[in-house]
Amino acid sequence: MSVYNSLDSITEELHNCMKCGNCMEVCPIYKETRQEVGVARGKISLVQYLLSGELEMTEKLADRFSLCTTCMACNTNCPCGVRFDKIILAARAEAVRKKGLHPVKKIAFTALKMQRMFDFGMKTGSIFQGMALKHVPHKSDRIARMRFDIGIGTDKVFPMLASRTLRSEFPEVVKVKNPKMRVAFFTGCMINYFYTDIGKAVVEVLKENDIEVVIPKGQGCCGIPASVNGDVHSAAALAKRNLRAFEKLGADALVVACSSGGTAWKHVFGELLDNEPEFKALADKWAGKSYDISEFLIKKVPFKKEGLGRVERKVTYHDPCHLNRGQGVNTEPREILKSIPGVELIEMKEPGRCCGMAGSFSLVHPDLSVQISDRKTADIELTHTDTVATGCPACRLQLKSGVENAGIEEEVVHTIQILAESYKNGKKK
Ligand code: SF4
Ligand code: SF4
Repeated sequence: MSVYNSLDSITEELHNCMKCGNCMEVCPIYKETRQEVGVARGKISLVQYLLSGELEMTEKLADRFSLCTTCMACNTNCPCGVRFDKIILAARAEAVRKKGLHPVKKIAFTALKMQRMFDFGMKTGSIFQGMALKHVPHKSDRIARMRFDIGIGTDKVFPMLASRTLRSEFPEVVKVKNPKMRVAFFTGCMINYFYTDIGKAVVEVLKENDIEVVIPKGQGCCGIPASVNGDVHSAAALAKRNLRAFEKLGADALVVACSSGGTAWKHVFGELLDNEPEFKALADKWAGKSYDISEFLIKKVPFKKEGLGRVERKVTYHDPCHLNRGQGVNTEPREILKSIPGVELIEMKEPGRCCGMAGSFSLVHPDLSVQISDRKTADIELTHTDTVATGCPACRLQLKSGVENAGIEEEVVHTIQILAESYKNGKKK
């Protein structure tokens, strides 16, 4: 039974919790709030009361379930193997079934399902973004701050919308001579609309490795923002649209450069479409050939070392939660970085600790998100590096905001950008 369809699907997980409190040691929310409701154990008790009928779902209770970055740190520190990620998703889906979706989220997820209109909105936004965003001069990033407070403060630093989306910059099939493989690229929204530099680096690196790249125009949002907020119907609709778009063009493998997108293709689509056998089979098929880009370049088609040029960077690597704990990808990006001539990798303290971004969490709980981010920024500063590499555009946003506001001169990039830079420098010889 899918966690998205019924609270009963998680009764065993709830039963396995012995209330030891080990999850407190690692929970970023508990570290800041010191409240039982912030940690897995507290929320597990609330769900148990819900199931036993001692509590009713209210808006206040639904709010409590929003207090979680879904970082999965509690999963890994739990001696009983409780999968709290399943519990929180089931609880949020139940909250939406009982209390409905917040109107703002409803509008946002509806817009995400209307791809053409969404594209038009983003295009218009890229033209008029200066009305809401104030450009922050920066040597390597196009970043900005809000001109006025819409409830999230004006300190946060955002990437600016690209004037052209990534998917409009490339044909659906990027050909190479004598391709050794045909690989589909799921761009995700942040890379398509904001961080097109990451997407271009993915295409360049794949081409450099003689791989034909397929970028279906019909793809859209991965649906993770909807699924983690309990909007199961929107998430399922988005999953189906992506499956159809990629199935139509076909490929030997699928790559992503975003931790949410990878989680969606590997784990979430199948769970969401559990009750629809035809789509479930499709989701399982694509899950079996989906890779994070770093995982693909280490495990599936080892990337070419010849042709790599020097990149003089002192780099520290931040592990995105959904790439590290969600997909078990953590050695691969480091292997890539260590292979690049000139790169010195210096580990920060607790590179796997959540950065506090967590999608809409940072908008719903902006102060808490910044508090969590401040700890990460302090750890980055101690490394005395000049670059933070990470494997997720959302983490890049949060980390950049943190270092910028702390006045630390640090570039924040995706690992694949450093590899692309190395190939580029190799050609200058
Ligand atoms: S660590 Fe696991 S068993 Fe212990 S309280 Fe937390 S969720 Fe329950
Ligand atoms: S998933 Fe992360 S934020 Fe949520 S309860 Fe577990 S440790 Fe805390």
